[in-house]
Amino acid sequence: MRSHYCGELNASNISQEITLCGWVHRRRDHGGVIFLDVRDREGITQVVFDPDRADSFALADSVRNEFVVKLKGLVRARPEGTVNPNMNTGEIEVLGLELEILNAAQTPPFQLDEHQSVGEDVRLKNRFIDLRRPEIQQKMRFRSKVTSVLRRYLDDNGFLDIETPILTRATPEGARDYLVPSRTQQGSFFALPQSPQLFKQLLMVSGFDRYYQIAKCFRDEDLRADRQPEFTQVDIETSFMSEEQIMGMTEEMITNLFKELMDIDLGAFPRMPYSEAMETYGSDKPDLRIPLTIVTVSDLMAEVDFKVFSGPAKDPKGRVAALKVPGGNSLTRKQIDDYTKFVGIYGAKGLAYIKVNDKSNLEEGLQSPIVKFLPIEVRQELLTRLEAEDGDLIFFGSDSAKVVNEALGALRCKLGEDLDLYTCEWAPLWVVDFPMFEETSDGGITAIHHPFTAPSCSPEALKADPLNALSQAYDMVLNGTELGGGSIRIHQSSMQETVFELLNISEEEQEEKFGFLLDALKFGAPPHGGLAFGLDRLVMLMTGSASIRDVIAFPKTQSATCLLTQAPGEVSDKQLKELNIRVRKPVTE
Ligand code: ASP
Repeated sequence: MRSHYCGELNASNISQEITLCGWVHRRRDHGGVIFLDVRDREGITQVVFDPDRADSFALADSVRNEFVVKLKGLVRARPEGTVNPNMNTGEIEVLGLELEILNAAQTPPFQLDEHQSVGEDVRLKNRFIDLRRPEIQQKMRFRSKVTSVLRRYLDDNGFLDIETPILTRATPEGARDYLVPSRTQQGSFFALPQSPQLFKQLLMVSGFDRYYQIAKCFRDEDLRADRQPEFTQVDIETSFMSEEQIMGMTEEMITNLFKELMDIDLGAFPRMPYSEAMETYGSDKPDLRIPLTIVTVSDLMAEVDFKVFSGPAKDPKGRVAALKVPGGNSLTRKQIDDYTKFVGIYGAKGLAYIKVNDKSNLEEGLQSPIVKFLPIEVRQELLTRLEAEDGDLIFFGSDSAKVVNEALGALRCKLGEDLDLYTCEWAPLWVVDFPMFEETSDGGITAIHHPFTAPSCSPEALKADPLNALSQAYDMVLNGTELGGGSIRIHQSSMQETVFELLNISEEEQEEKFGFLLDALKFGAPPHGGLAFGLDRLVMLMTGSASIRDVIAFPKTQSATCLLTQAPGEVSDKQLKELNIRVRKPVTE
């Protein structure tokens, strides 16, 4: 129907007769002449209708925002003084010759350029209109480019794109499953995959050697800003490649992506052991753009006459740590109170601090409600260890190591943002040497990555000291966000059984849930490993979006519903009967 996209016209089209199709973005009546800004996915062109052509003029007069139109016109240079340098098509305009209304539109629930005046719920409910906004259109186009560049890299490197089932059994990644009742096997349920993990491993057992898939994954979790119940992974698995080789190749894939689409050179990614990340940054996904570090001071505080510090300092699971904010002396009482509330979210019961006014005067130069509890030698050693200078502020965390890490780790990022401490725009790294397991609150153990991750030690060593064993897992982190994670997998059934045992999965349960995997590992499984990137997060970071909802065409809300389709919805009695399901009335408060 069209000869050109609206947004692609420029001075080289002057004097051409063209046909455009699109939406009326805005209509303006300028005393006898009507201007229509006509929009399509490539941009906006200004079309002028004058009364010389009475028919099209009358039609142009009648159209409203978001009408769908087709028009024939003549491209001409804009009159001097009316060139708009902010518009791609700002040098030209189109003299409208013929106009056809392809479809009328009701007044939209919000104007595209006034989307900020309505809540996100209104935008999500009317997503088909929201998606017309140039900003979101750009993001979706960018997302499409990202997948295309990644596919090209993987295709060029011999990866095969293979689909895996959506209706399957539970694939444990540590979240709750979405279940689908089976009609043919009544009382049984499919689970939607939390990831294609087991299938991709089976593909390696089958000899495909290199697999990838842009895969939908489903996890029924409580949602946070960067989580969705269904999300997309760029899922990768390889055979006969070492941890180093897998990291090297996927690092190259991501650096190429940034170079090609954004002309950004990410450089070589540093590697950091998990233990260092937790110790120094309080997080397994440290944001290295922020120069603040966390320093352990438990040894200094073990004997002080201040239980809040000495208790955790003496507890093997406790930690006392300090976070120095250079120049932080100028933080106000109110700001410190706000940070105290902030760390409370992470379980910290308070936020002790010292303002370093004059480090040469250890009696009076330190300003703090707690300094009186610290002997002079401790004060001195503290300042030396933290390399504190006059004008600095030192925050303290003292609790279980878990609470201290989470609280100071989050505070570090918050201070980085609030005080704009960023030293660079992009800070990628690999976090490596993760432990295999961590303790659960009920004293059990759980896999940190997933139960198919290979340990760095023998089954005997693993059994002897599971909580100290390291795994061959690796995470790629960018600006404090986990972009992707993976591992070398267990490829021997005996090792897999050992891990299941340690996780307290009985032999029957192993057989029932993972019998097929254990079998596969007995029939010639090659050494293999891989990883998966979170596509939504990757695109969110690359486009500087605040939420992954901004880079997903049809996202769900924080409560895992779709405002557009009203999913999840009730189903008919007939459908329930076929499934042999009776729904209990939801418990009302
Ligand atoms: N299946 C893992 C995940 O979804 C990724 C991997 O180990 O490859 O996190």
